[in-house]
Amino acid sequence: MDIHEYQAKELFARSGIPILKGEVARSADEAEAIARRVGGPVVVKAQVHTGGRGKAGGVKYSKTPSEARENAEKILGMRIKDHVVQVVLVVEAADIAAEAYVGITHDRAARKAVVMVSSEGGIDIEEVAATNPDAILKEAIEPALGLTAGQARRLGFHLYGHDPMLAKTAAALLSKLADTFFENDCTLAEINPLIVTEGGELIALDAKISIDDNGLVRHKEIEQLRDLAAEDAADTKARDAGLAFHKLEGEVGCVVNGAGLAMSTLDAIEHFGGKAANFLDIGGSSNPEKVLTAMEIILRDPNVRVILFNIFGGITRCDDVARGLVQVFKSTEIGVPVVIRLTGTNEEEAREILGEVDVVTEPTMDGVIQRAIELGRG
Ligand code: GDP
Ligand code: MN
Repeated sequence: MDIHEYQAKELFARSGIPILKGEVARSADEAEAIARRVGGPVVVKAQVHTGGRGKAGGVKYSKTPSEARENAEKILGMRIKDHVVQVVLVVEAADIAAEAYVGITHDRAARKAVVMVSSEGGIDIEEVAATNPDAILKEAIEPALGLTAGQARRLGFHLYGHDPMLAKTAAALLSKLADTFFENDCTLAEINPLIVTEGGELIALDAKISIDDNGLVRHKEIEQLRDLAAEDAADTKARDAGLAFHKLEGEVGCVVNGAGLAMSTLDAIEHFGGKAANFLDIGGSSNPEKVLTAMEIILRDPNVRVILFNIFGGITRCDDVARGLVQVFKSTEIGVPVVIRLTGTNEEEAREILGEVDVVTEPTMDGVIQRAIELGRG
């Protein structure tokens, strides 16, 4: 789960990472009032779950409260990479002497969290990695040890070797960033840019945090930060219904039970030359309602040309799935062919129920997938 910059900064502040004073506004009036409270110049910043806001015109320096108002007017409602800005952060402006990058993420291959720092800040780390990889220093964190003092110092000195005091301050900040990362079950905690001000202070000017969805049960207060307006409606609907759903780019909509079967279904679609439109696991104890919701979610996607059901009835009962499907046919205009393979618990009953509706059934997994791809093309 992604959270907004202002929320990430709150988590930073709790760990003792310095940030600048600011508040969020949902209107130009509010933005002006905040700028007045802050006193001096502010920066008005779009709060959306994507980077590159600066380049897109979503980060604007504002000398006076009335300028802050004008800039908020421009930014609110702006579309940045498919995200509509509904909230802006109005934050004290900084005099920047230098910008660096610091971030922690998981290195899945190493099975460790990795801290990365680069003295080239303000730009995407991927870009630095491609053009100037020597600028980046990485330290993998041993799970049993955490980020050690020695590692933090090495990273700090990589950034500010010319200024030992600053290097030590950076080392302390990186330890706090590691605290933030582990305490909140993050998959990413990034400061880009980490700045040195003209006055020599080290400050997190930007903040990006993603939380591991599987860790959210331990962080109710973070779960509350979920921005439903910024989230894809299909994701919200799927989560509320207890379905594991991920949108993909292809044309074959998939309803499958069990994550393993869903994965192998995606592989087989690819193998036979098709492209899946989604991953969707209706889970074990399916009830007709879940099938209804699954179909609703898939049908929102305009790329979908055919819907494929691949159900292996164990705990999931085939007749439940069939009943759900009949309900869908009664209540919804489907508009694309539906191809089904049902096998296992109560499959006979399911087949009888499906006799009422216009679906194509196939007995084998390979068969049903090939058929779906064919119908999707045609
Ligand atoms: P991003 O483009 O979405 O990563 O947004 P950032 O928060 O990183 O802001 C983009 C850039 O705007 C930064 O790299 C800074 O150069 C600049 N910027 C942001 N806040 C301030 C500020 O308070 N003062 C100054 N001078 N520049 C700022
Ligand atoms: Mn940034």
